[in-house]
Amino acid sequence: MSRQPFPDSLRDYSAVREDILSGAVRIETLTEQALRRAERDAGLNAFTCLCRDQALEDAAAADRTVAAGRPGRLAGLILAVKDLIAMEGLPTTCGSRMLEGYVSPYTATAVRRLRSEGAVVVGRTNMDEFGMGSSNENSAFGPVRNPLDPERTPGGSSGGSAAAVASGAVMAALGTDTGGSVRQPAAHTGTVGLRPTYGRVSRHGLVAFASSLDQIGTLSRSVEDAARMLEVMAGPDPLDATSSGEHVPRYAESVGREVTGLAVGLPREFLDDGVDPDIRAAVENAAGRLERAGGRLVPVSLPHAPWGIATYYLICTAEASSNLARYDGAHYGLRAEEAEGLDAMTVRTRHAGFGNEVKRRILLGTYVLSAGYIEAYYRKALKARTLIVRDFDEVFRHCDVVLGPTTPTTAFRLGEKTEDPMAMYLSDIFTVTAPLAGLPAVSIPAGLDRNGLPVGVQLTGKRFGEEDLLAAAACLERPPASPDAVSSSEGGPA
Ligand code: GLN
Repeated sequence: MSRQPFPDSLRDYSAVREDILSGAVRIETLTEQALRRAERDAGLNAFTCLCRDQALEDAAAADRTVAAGRPGRLAGLILAVKDLIAMEGLPTTCGSRMLEGYVSPYTATAVRRLRSEGAVVVGRTNMDEFGMGSSNENSAFGPVRNPLDPERTPGGSSGGSAAAVASGAVMAALGTDTGGSVRQPAAHTGTVGLRPTYGRVSRHGLVAFASSLDQIGTLSRSVEDAARMLEVMAGPDPLDATSSGEHVPRYAESVGREVTGLAVGLPREFLDDGVDPDIRAAVENAAGRLERAGGRLVPVSLPHAPWGIATYYLICTAEASSNLARYDGAHYGLRAEEAEGLDAMTVRTRHAGFGNEVKRRILLGTYVLSAGYIEAYYRKALKARTLIVRDFDEVFRHCDVVLGPTTPTTAFRLGEKTEDPMAMYLSDIFTVTAPLAGLPAVSIPAGLDRNGLPVGVQLTGKRFGEEDLLAAAACLERPPASPDAVSSSEGGPA
């Protein structure tokens, strides 16, 4: 059963910014509307908590900056934040029982920067536990439902963020993307999901899952909104040694840029028989649109991409097994009180606090790092990762962006893959390669499949190549110039 978002959905920020700046629309009113919508849509289970008081205070302050004629760059952008990104004074559950009762003592740099430019955070969003999952069914707070069809998942692990944006409760949301958790839910909900280059946005305040892959990204209703947020979040941060000092361009300006002469790589590995025919058609359609807009299509190959999933699941589990060692019952959140002695307390706490998928990954990660197996598994995965990096280096000698599908299928049904971890892991087949290579990538809505479900296409860019990426993404988002050039189901968000 399909259901359209409520009529009083919030529009994307770029569409209402002028009205906000002119004072025609008050930020407090937008904030009230968002909170009302989030409450009415509680059945989606998109939020783990709403922060009403702080949101209304921030909104009033932002309205005052407008009245005083010095609004922030994001004044009135109504935002939700994945419950894995710290905000001072609020719970950070990471979708886990393990962090029951934990309250963050500080705010993530990305959130701090967005709020300092007038963005208003109305709530924190549900997610797969510690970011591990592709359907949001691994949350200790229950699954999130897809607003476009409540019997289906919105994808994961940033499923709550995607559902909050797609339902129109917020204008945009922060997610995190380790292996695809921003782009895959974006594809399943008809939203724009941007994962920046590794190091482009500070990870300070982002709870670690796999540190060499984790990045904060955005879910939004337009490419321009993604660009505006990136512009504010990007840049070096003394609190994250992996954040980059690379110049931060005016990303929002890329959105209107021509794509004439842009070389668009089409990797044959991304369009093989495993891809749903409707998704393949959407990618071909997108390629045609870029070509008509002046882009140049270049057939390319990423020969090691088929090893992406195996490589990703060895590296991310190894890093997770180490990162999650800190949840020992002594430092954060949950503690099994009834145990005698430190070791027993730690064992019982971890047994009670972690869900099955997190336990599976800690076991697998510990195994691949253990003395007898590290050469055969972890070190081999690192070598495969280098080969994937080199594949992209080679492709980007001739191309500016790479185009392909975001996911092999559209949104699947709740429960459809929960018994089969391998089937679940394969949902990430097209999204894991960009993070393994540290590259930026974006999923853009590209029409509907035969069942009326959203299809996403993915563009991957060069390291710090977000300008080309956003220009190409914006070109695909624009309504087609002539109606007969593309199928009727295509077009940007209304
Ligand atoms: N679905 C992938 C996983 O389960 C990606 C997760 C992510 O990007 N956080 O690991």
